[in-house]
Amino acid sequence: MTQKLTLLGATGSIGASTLDVVARHPGRFRVFALTAHRSADALLALCLRHAPAFAVLSGLPEDAGLRGRFAAAGCRSELLFGTQALERVAADPDCDVVMAAIVGAAGLAPTLAGARAGKRILLANKEALVMAGPFFMRAVRERGATLLPIDSEHNAVFQCLPQEPAQSAGRASTRAVRRILLTASGGPFRTAPLEGLSGVTPEEACAHPNWAMGRKISVDSATMMNKGLEVIEARWLFDVAPERIEVLIHAQSIIHSLVEFVDGSVIAQLSNPDMRVPIAHALGFPERIESGATALDLAAVGTLAFERPDARRFPCLGLAYAALREGGTAPAVLNAANEIAVAAFLEGKLRYTAIPQVIEHAMQAAPATAAESLETVLEADRRARAAARDGVAALMGRAA
Ligand code: NAD
Ligand code: MG
Repeated sequence: MTQKLTLLGATGSIGASTLDVVARHPGRFRVFALTAHRSADALLALCLRHAPAFAVLSGLPEDAGLRGRFAAAGCRSELLFGTQALERVAADPDCDVVMAAIVGAAGLAPTLAGARAGKRILLANKEALVMAGPFFMRAVRERGATLLPIDSEHNAVFQCLPQEPAQSAGRASTRAVRRILLTASGGPFRTAPLEGLSGVTPEEACAHPNWAMGRKISVDSATMMNKGLEVIEARWLFDVAPERIEVLIHAQSIIHSLVEFVDGSVIAQLSNPDMRVPIAHALGFPERIESGATALDLAAVGTLAFERPDARRFPCLGLAYAALREGGTAPAVLNAANEIAVAAFLEGKLRYTAIPQVIEHAMQAAPATAAESLETVLEADRRARAAARDGVAALMGRAA
């Protein structure tokens, strides 16, 4: 049967890889809805190619002129505006699968709406689980949704765990698991002299050695906050205690993560670094489908290398573990402050090395509370953003 797909964040890097895989399997998938924040031209081009029933511009108010332009270009999709439209297309009874590929906290509400509607959720938007892990997972369980990880590390862990029929990430059997080892490339500054880090530019930080990704996650990879967010993501996806999740630097990005079992066996998942591999895995699950990725040539790779992360070089990783241990809204505060700090760095307003300082400031200024509902989490997110903006302003004065 054809599966109808809502793609949240269609104009991004994960969006492009998803549409590439989908186009390889025309009978299997149909594009039901495509969303973008404000990039109308990019969305129009995708609509002409994939003919979804709905197109959403969530960051723009109702605009009759744009609607006319889409129609004049030959686009037959119904064009919707505003953030509410994201939740509508994620929860629509006609949609079967939701690819959650919006970047940042903005992805939480529509992804949760999809989970509450019992959809099959393919989760790239890790920030949603970081902010709202426990009650997001509860919604998945209670509403019978299926949750499949797209983040390459979590997709790898999912593939390494024993598979049960009708499985979803939250139902993975983890009793026999001793440790989850999340691999990390170490980003572009893994071996750069520490003294030089305060002067790095946004372009240098976004030049990832192995992956071409959006700018926010590229900076997160450089600071290793990305891995910190992924530790929190793994804690909720697989229901494992934080002390059983470890980070291992593997600069080649061939092994995407490993699971160690109580008997000492370690299972790993390998592939060339290409997001179409986890995307095809989750789209096809439990079947295997073509992704378009080139085959891995291990003889050409020769050797696989590993090292432990250096806490001085990557302070953001320690902050993420601290937020996870603190619990409640602390991970939401960490995430929001990181979004503000990274945006300020990308705009040239904040030094690279001040990113963890802004986050620490926000974590002290916006103490954690219990995270029982979407509202409490969004309130913590707002307080953390305000505190982080104050932190950025204070540090900007000292940046010159
Ligand atoms: P990107 O910046 O390339 O694309 C982001 C998409 O989200 C765009 O379509 C944009 O229009 C939309 N968007 C941005 N802000 C929005 C807002 N406020 N409201 C609604 N929509 C908004 O990002 P990406 O690299 O594709 O990453 C998307 C998500 O996937 C992130 O959560 C990231 O952590 C995760 N992820 C990405 C990769 C990767 O290889 N790119 C790997 C693993 C996980
Ligand atoms: Mg990842």
